[in-house]
Amino acid sequence: MGQWVYTFGDGKAEGDASQRDLLGGKGANLAEMSSLGLPVPPGMTITTEVCTYYYENGETYPPELEGEVDAALEQIAASTDRKFGDPDMPLLVSVRSGARISMPGMMDTVLNLGLNDTTVPALAKNADDERFAYDSYRRFIQMYGDVVLGVPMRLFDEHLESMKDEKDVELDTDLSAADWRTLIESYKALVQKETGSPFPQDPRDQLWGAIGAVFGSWRNDRAVTYRRLQGIPERWGTAVTVQAMVFGNMGETSATGVAFTRNPSNGENALYGEFLINAQGEDVVAGIRTPQDITEKARLEAGSEKQSMEKALPEAFAEFKAVCDKLEGHYRDVQDLEFTIERNKLWMLQTRTGKRTAKAALKIAVDMVDEGVISEAEAVQRIEPASLDQLLHPTIDPQAKTDLFAKALPASPGAAAGEIVFSSEEAERIAGLGRTCILCRIETSPEDISGMHAAAGIFTTRGGMTSHAAVVARGMGKPCVSGAGNVRINYANGTMIAGGRTLKVGDKITIDGATGEVLMGEVPMLNPELSGDFQRIMQWADGARRMRVRTNADTPHDARAAREFGAEGIGLCRTEHMFFDPARINAMREMILADDTEGRKAALDKLLPMQREDFTSIFEIMAGLPVTIRLLDPPLHEFIPHGEDEILEVAEALGVSPDKLRNRSRELSEFNPMLGHRGCRLAVSYPEIAEMQSRAIFEAAVAAAKKTGAPVEPEVMVPLVSLKTELDFVKKRIDATAKAVREETGVDFHYQVGTMVELPRAAINAKAIAESAEFFSFGTNDLTQTTFGISRDDAGVFLGAYLRESIIDIDPFVSIDVDGVGALVELAAERGRQTRPDIKLGICGEHGGDPASISFCESVDLDYVSCSPFRVPIARLAAAQAALRKKG
Ligand code: ADP
Ligand code: MG
Ligand code: MG
Repeated sequence: MGQWVYTFGDGKAEGDASQRDLLGGKGANLAEMSSLGLPVPPGMTITTEVCTYYYENGETYPPELEGEVDAALEQIAASTDRKFGDPDMPLLVSVRSGARISMPGMMDTVLNLGLNDTTVPALAKNADDERFAYDSYRRFIQMYGDVVLGVPMRLFDEHLESMKDEKDVELDTDLSAADWRTLIESYKALVQKETGSPFPQDPRDQLWGAIGAVFGSWRNDRAVTYRRLQGIPERWGTAVTVQAMVFGNMGETSATGVAFTRNPSNGENALYGEFLINAQGEDVVAGIRTPQDITEKARLEAGSEKQSMEKALPEAFAEFKAVCDKLEGHYRDVQDLEFTIERNKLWMLQTRTGKRTAKAALKIAVDMVDEGVISEAEAVQRIEPASLDQLLHPTIDPQAKTDLFAKALPASPGAAAGEIVFSSEEAERIAGLGRTCILCRIETSPEDISGMHAAAGIFTTRGGMTSHAAVVARGMGKPCVSGAGNVRINYANGTMIAGGRTLKVGDKITIDGATGEVLMGEVPMLNPELSGDFQRIMQWADGARRMRVRTNADTPHDARAAREFGAEGIGLCRTEHMFFDPARINAMREMILADDTEGRKAALDKLLPMQREDFTSIFEIMAGLPVTIRLLDPPLHEFIPHGEDEILEVAEALGVSPDKLRNRSRELSEFNPMLGHRGCRLAVSYPEIAEMQSRAIFEAAVAAAKKTGAPVEPEVMVPLVSLKTELDFVKKRIDATAKAVREETGVDFHYQVGTMVELPRAAINAKAIAESAEFFSFGTNDLTQTTFGISRDDAGVFLGAYLRESIIDIDPFVSIDVDGVGALVELAAERGRQTRPDIKLGICGEHGGDPASISFCESVDLDYVSCSPFRVPIARLAAAQAALRKKG
């Protein structure tokens, strides 16, 4: 059996920063900081393996755990000269949670554990400060009551608020020791009433209660939701860190704070953070008092009246600044720090890689290359590909006339407009209706995660740049304006008021997370310009990648957008969307209703010029680049009207009887259309459709080449092939059409015929199919459906449970299932290359824009990935990272 508990402190540690999987991010970095000789209160970390054990063994602990915890407590006691439960020199600890990846606000920390009716006087005596001691005790009862005993924080707050009313004071800091003592008694009574038992007095009971609560919280709804949204596997588990307390609430020379070594919002190379004098723990982020700036420079910029830490606590500031430099240099990246100052003595409580906006990430990476700290390749690897999405957000048009409703903190960049909603449920409901909304809250809490996801932007009236709303919004890449103290939200009335104006739920507003402005109505916006740092990183990325990046585009509009984002061709142009156009769908329906080949050909002749036009403009935009066009794929039933009203309307427009339409609809309807009469099966039944489409493609290629002088290379893709003979049947028609067009136009052109590999049989038979196919494009959406035997449209019902129960780690439609679907891709690539060494291999479908799937594509040496236009920059970066990782 391995070691379950790792200790740190006094310039030593068991474990280090590389052991995040075992110790959690927090525990691993505390160990590392301690080894670096930084001032870290001593402590122990109970590993994530204990969490796994706990859930695998009916919520019990490994038998050795208790002994290991006791031994570690002895060590902490020796280091601090205090003892757990000692009536003279009591040891107090915090109990903290920490997963591999930080999950902001997901699991709660308990501070001041070890306090009880006998240790609290000792704390008062040792600190020579009664007020401080009883403040700490009441905080402990509150936190422990909430987190461990399940007594809602709201109930404690009510007692505290009525105490403040009674004493006619506004701030917690204005209450005296005697007030706290009174409050403690009413807290204890509250706990007795709510739980039926007295507040636990034995520090050992307190400790094991808190440890159990942390492990228990791994499975609370908030944490489960967060992991589902972030794709974090259930089985990772959390670690628990138990650490000796230090106190930021010991009067005016004590403080607590959070900081980033560089600005996480814009990337500026300047220490950035907030702190509060005479405060503890999360007071800074909870927005109870407005925090103060750490540096004088930031204070001046913010125009704040409150003293900076640089001025208020100069010695501690100087030491802190040195620690920041040391940590940034050590980790070679921006750090996000938590610290406490106890009577002018600095203590470090946490460090981790600083979360940053995409804009800041680019600037920091580019700056660090210029500073000689990291290489260009490292800079490319530092940018989270998916985060580039944020840069593609619109900004407010500077020309637009705006009407300012309120101004607050620019907490997360980007602009968003939408209806005002005041609750997460409402945000989800509005988003479900396909409308956009801005979630407006006094403050957000972890329960709001799904609502924040659903909203286009977030607005809060409380909390600073490091509040829950701000941190989570930045992580999600959502615009956020926070801390609008002059706006009054009234949930009950569904209103918000500022400067004498009242807005109601459903009214439209626009928020600008870059300036902190809240504007009336829906303001015009501009699309982002991608230059500067972005260009430099992308240039380095393009230099590092091997795979090409194409786009999935069905329209000239998408094709143009994709080229601007750097697409190097089209990997999937779906032709059926062109037929759904209201101006065309009736010609398509005529074709479907035709009784014989002649009738079908007549209808197809109407469609031909329309298709040709579509392809011509797409080919002009993609001049000189390859374009893959997929022949008609969906079952014909999809083009036929279903509702009775629509049937009558269409019958009239086409001049046929409604019964004819109804009959045809019945004939075409299928039990399982996904596996029915579609793909190349249509081309086998109705070769004239494939002929018309190839003719449109080739004629367009000729026409576009004449115009641009840079011919595209059309790649005609036959969908849903499983047999070489199927492909041959269709290919013969395509080749004949090409020959005819060449003869008619007198122009020679290059083209290829290939197939979409989306059925397991095609993957297994790739060797034979490659005799006829000049390229394979892996259609991994359908390949996932057909490999798993799961219909994507029906999967929602059960995949949720699969994720929750850790049967799968991630939805296979989001990220490619490497072991199954991926194995088929690898096999097909290998067998295809045996027959045709230069066969072109690519992937289309949603996986082409997913960084993890792109990494897989690199590992099996595909030639390109293809994704939607907005994901092209993401794919370029992800492809570069995959290539760099492979190089090692
Ligand atoms: P989170 O994961 O939510 O950031 P933490 O475990 O970091 O939770 O705890 C929150 C805050 O509690 C810390 O930022 C720090 O201010 C305070 N805290 C935690 N442990 C201690 C300690 N041993 N001494 C003093 N303050 C502590
Ligand atoms: Mg927290
Ligand atoms: Mg923390």
